[in-house]
Amino acid sequence: MSPPSNAAPPAPTAASSPATIACPHCNGANAAGTDLLATFRSMRCSHCGSPLFTGTPLTLTAANFDAHTAADGLPLLVDFWASWCGPCKSMAPVFDRLAAEFEPHVRFAKVDTDSEGDLATAFRIRTIPTLSLVHDRREVARIAGALFAGDLRRWLYGALSEATGTEAATG
Ligand SMILES: [Zn+2]
Repeated sequence: MSPPSNAAPPAPTAASSPATIACPHCNGANAAGTDLLATFRSMRCSHCGSPLFTGTPLTLTAANFDAHTAADGLPLLVDFWASWCGPCKSMAPVFDRLAAEFEPHVRFAKVDTDSEGDLATAFRIRTIPTLSLVHDRREVARIAGALFAGDLRRWLYGALSEATGTEAATG
């Protein structure tokens, strides 16, 4: 089987593969199965029938936070942003592009800090944009400030390697 993408990031090891994947539409939990990497583009939610991977960040709120941070779920990269924040806007296209690139290994999500003040407070967000990587129900890495694609990709590779206990990818 050939890889579905010509820009696939280094895959986390099998040991770090998620057992469940929360649906970006209805937030229902789905068993990931062992053929995840081969079939992710066609995977659909067993609850609502929607695609489990859409190539775009999902909107994270207090209501769906638990569904997307389950202990056996995908690592979640959260972008804390606001509509009045220039650097947030400049980084948005980069974040969108890398969301598609890192699926199905990482789920990308955005938190509007104006409408989700409780989440921003819980994460002690002091400046935006701030990116937070959540894995096994805890924050494992964060970085503040707008990033270019190359810098964001490099930072995320490193953070994932540390979070999942695997050796860093070469390059
Ligand atoms: Zn669903």
